Amino acid sequence: MEIVRCASCDGYGWFDDDDGQTQDCEWCGGIGYTYRDANGVDKRIPAADYAAVSEQLERLEKERLREMGYTGEAKKPWEQKIRQQGEG
Ligand SMILES: [Zn+2]
Repeated sequence: MEIVRCASCDGYGWFDDDDGQTQDCEWCGGIGYTYRDANGVDKRIPAADYAAVSEQLERLEKERLREMGYTGEAKKPWEQKIRQQGEG
């Protein structure tokens, strides 16, 4: 399955609220990327898949950051989510 930048948050994974707080994007679950199936339909990547697709996500995120002129580390929100799954 192809992975694409989330159409809703454009890869950010979150939105700024009016009051300055951030909110996870509901479309991608805060990951910034979604699956795109053969019919061109975007689907949220299930949390259970994060570990399996993390390398691909990292590559896409580096690409995105490079487009923005950012050369530091990717923030890897999905790794945070994987860690969260392991807790509790
Ligand atoms: Zn999104």
